[in-house]
Amino acid sequence: MTPGSRGQKVAVIGAGIIGVCAANALADEGYRVEVIDPVLPGSPEQCSYGNAGGLSPGSCIPNAMPGIARQVPGMLLDPEGPIGLRLLDLPHALPWLLRFLWNSRLSRVRRIADGMIALNRLTLECYEPLLREAGCADLILHRGQLFAYENPKGPEGSALSIALRRERGVKVEILNAAQMRDLEPAINPDYCAGVFLPEQGQCPNPGRLVEAIARLAARKGVLFTRQRAKALVLDQGRVTGVATEAGVALADKVVVAAGAFSGPFARQAGVRVPLISERGYHIMLPHAKTGLRVNVNAAERKFVAAPMEGGLRLSGTVEFARPSAPPNWRRAEILLSQARHMFPGADLRGMTPWMGNRPGTPDSIPVIECAPRHDNVILAFGHGHQGLMGGSVTGRLVADLATGRPCPIDMTHFRSDRF
Ligand SMILES: Cc1cc2nc3c(=O)[nH]c(=O)nc-3n(C[C@H](O)[C@H](O)[C@H](O)COP(=O)(O)OP(=O)(O)OC[C@H]3O[C@@H](n4cnc5c(N)ncnc54)[C@H](O)[C@@H]3O)c2cc1C
Repeated sequence: MTPGSRGQKVAVIGAGIIGVCAANALADEGYRVEVIDPVLPGSPEQCSYGNAGGLSPGSCIPNAMPGIARQVPGMLLDPEGPIGLRLLDLPHALPWLLRFLWNSRLSRVRRIADGMIALNRLTLECYEPLLREAGCADLILHRGQLFAYENPKGPEGSALSIALRRERGVKVEILNAAQMRDLEPAINPDYCAGVFLPEQGQCPNPGRLVEAIARLAARKGVLFTRQRAKALVLDQGRVTGVATEAGVALADKVVVAAGAFSGPFARQAGVRVPLISERGYHIMLPHAKTGLRVNVNAAERKFVAAPMEGGLRLSGTVEFARPSAPPNWRRAEILLSQARHMFPGADLRGMTPWMGNRPGTPDSIPVIECAPRHDNVILAFGHGHQGLMGGSVTGRLVADLATGRPCPIDMTHFRSDRF
């Protein structure tokens, strides 16, 4: 038990991957922890349930890369394209999109890549002991990650991404058509060139992973309260707990880990973050026995095919819509047509679609800090496309921030005053 934690209570808002990893790490420090969330950890309502399972210590490529400004209009106009934006939602998304484009300058991209790798580099190192302790070490597979191209010169067009990775020590292999066949015979030979990152991992069931960490935390005494947090409670200018529909959960410290819904809590703690829901979709294909082994990112079509415990999962698309807007299942059908192309002849019957809210910041990096004006409020949200891999590390950082121990990585990347 760390000296500061003795007897102290922490309320964690949100039981997604970030919230459960934080709760578990705080319990290890000796805090009494209560996690507040209306839904169960690992349930389909969470973004953490339906992702592609990528656990990539070498992940350092921001979503806004140089040249994206030229590509976005075409992507938006293409009904089968990877980005969706309803005109009605344009005023809601525009300020965020402008910041996103501003971050695509090369100088910003290099700095962002440093922030991303600082966090992601430790993902497997942090997950492995955690999952062993939780009794589910089988939830990490070390198979590498493949970017598959239909254009044989595709990898040349990704020269900047490859350089950014290599500069940061990530092993990258360029594959020709024959090497692609050897590595992943399950996919259509139209994919004739590849970029393979052999040191990356994948999780075959992200929902089970969240649930297992929550169970582990519960065994250590963490209390899970199925309530919606309404607001932070302040007393004489200091945060003293969290108001829920059932009353007030008093706490010495509060962790805000409500994913895409963290904004109002952060604002109460005096922090404004440009956070948007980048809605993503997946389809599960339970009968598609393709034999796929590695997570395959279709580089031009921008989706991920992943072998999961429940079948084949295709995921992707970014849709800017208010979180309250109903899902647009047309986006899931687009994924089905991508599956038809990548896995010709596979049995694609019985598809189940899913939609989740990625907590997106315009620079692809989360906010992880003690709120500058409320040092007993720890912000841990905005992990965007990388929150599964960011979870184990963020949990440890939250524990460091809570105890006042120095963090092992440069935390300036994750401060909210960068916006
Ligand atoms: C299609 C898709 C593919 C992806 N692929 C990958 C990938 O391969 N690898 C990767 O690392 N990441 C991936 N991601 C991103 C990753 O899933 C997210 O970054 C991550 O799940 C975010 O976790 P979180 O805990 O912040 O949010 P969530 O999992 O959404 O959890 C937030 C929790 O907060 C709760 N909450 C909200 N409001 C309140 C409130 N008022 N009171 C109490 N609780 C509240 C919610 O109920 C929810 O349980 C992908 C995402 C999508 C959509």
